Amino acid sequence: MKLSDVLDYIFPRKCLGCGREEGYLCSFCREKIQLLKTQCCPNCRKHQSEGRFCNQRCAENFNFDQLIVCLEYSKSNLISKMVVQFKYRFSEDLVEILGKIMKHQLAVFSHNFRSEEGNILLIPVPLSAGRMRFRGFNQSLLLAKYLVKNFNGMQVSDCMQREDGSEQQAGKARNARLKNLENKIFMNKGQEKFLAGKSVIVIDDIATTGTTLNECARVLKLAGASHVCGLVLARGK
Ligand SMILES: [Zn+2]
Ligand SMILES: [Zn+2]
Repeated sequence: MKLSDVLDYIFPRKCLGCGREEGYLCSFCREKIQLLKTQCCPNCRKHQSEGRFCNQRCAENFNFDQLIVCLEYSKSNLISKMVVQFKYRFSEDLVEILGKIMKHQLAVFSHNFRSEEGNILLIPVPLSAGRMRFRGFNQSLLLAKYLVKNFNGMQVSDCMQREDGSEQQAGKARNARLKNLENKIFMNKGQEKFLAGKSVIVIDDIATTGTTLNECARVLKLAGASHVCGLVLARGK
C-alpha cells in the first residue's frame, strides 16, 4: 500500500463543494464551476477585453500589461476552498482541476500576445525558502508545468526568488503591501538579462490588490521582458 493510499484512507478525499467522497471535486460540483466570460481592467475593474488597462491613467501604477482572471471569487465559494487545500496538501487531482481551468482561460484571452511560434515564458510567483520548506512545493510552479504541456512554444522558467517574510501581506493596504515587497523579489543569479524581448505569463493562485504580480512584473521588465501578463485563478475584492 502506498503512503498516498494510506492518507486517502485516514483522510478521505471529500468533495470540497458538497462533501461527497468522490475526490476533491465531484462530477456534480464540477458542472457548477463557472469560468469568467469577460475580463476587466486590473485597476478600475470596468469591462476590458483580455484584461488590459482602459487607458494610460489606469495603467499608471502597474508594471504588468494585462491580467487574466479565471473565476469569480467569494470567501465561501468552492474556488477559495480548492486553493487553500492546494496550498497545503499536494494533490495531482487539484493540479489537474485547477490547471484545466487556467488552460481554458489562457487559450481564450491571450490572443493579443500569443502566437503559434511561441517564445513565451511561464513564470510562477516565487515562494520564499521558508515557505518552500514548510509546504514542500510551489503551487504556482505546478500549474505552470501543467500549462506548458498544453501550449506550443511555451517554456516554464522558475527564475525568481523572494525573501523570507515577504509573504505576510493580508490586511495591509496596497501602499503598505508595495513597501513591504520592495526589493524582496528578485531574479536568480545569472538571469538578470535573459528575458530580453520576451513575453511572459506570471502565474499566481489568487490576486487581491495585484501587488505581488506588480513587483514580479517590475523585476521581469528590468530583466528585459517586453510584455507581462498575469494569470490567476481568482481575484479577491
Ligand atoms: Zn460535490
Ligand atoms: Zn480602468
